[in-house]
Amino acid sequence: MNTGLRLAAVFIAFLFQTTLKAQTMNTKENQTTTSIFAKGEKATQNFTGTAWVKTLVANDDTLTTIISNVMFEAGARNYWHTHPAGQILICTEGTGYYQEKGKPIQTLYAGDVVKILPGVEHWHGASPTSSFTHIAINVNTEKGVVNWLKPVTDEEYNSK
Ligand code: MN
Repeated sequence: MNTGLRLAAVFIAFLFQTTLKAQTMNTKENQTTTSIFAKGEKATQNFTGTAWVKTLVANDDTLTTIISNVMFEAGARNYWHTHPAGQILICTEGTGYYQEKGKPIQTLYAGDVVKILPGVEHWHGASPTSSFTHIAINVNTEKGVVNWLKPVTDEEYNSK
């Protein structure tokens, strides 16, 4: 192999390696920043800060269940509220907060599952420094879905 050809081969190998590295980095970024569900609609009521809600399963008379994907930007949370038939949260991304009235704030991570009993006053949202995503499941919707109460104050939110 002459010198010119050898240099060309080394250069092509270098380009190929660089492309592979870039692809690997992109894949890692996508894994940490891309949700498997669409972002949905911006929540305009009963939330403090910015949150996005995507309905995955709409209510109907047969299954009487609503399933939603909710993405909270850092610092965002919903108002104090109750669910007449309870709710299940399946945490999928980031770091979140959950609090029941009269109890300390609990930190939530991807993989955590929260069972909220009927009538228990509570709120959920992101931690101050991380976004947070959960799937919310509301069952037995014939009994009611949610009763919204007051906003979570900054003092309450920062009591962690
Ligand atoms: Mn709830």
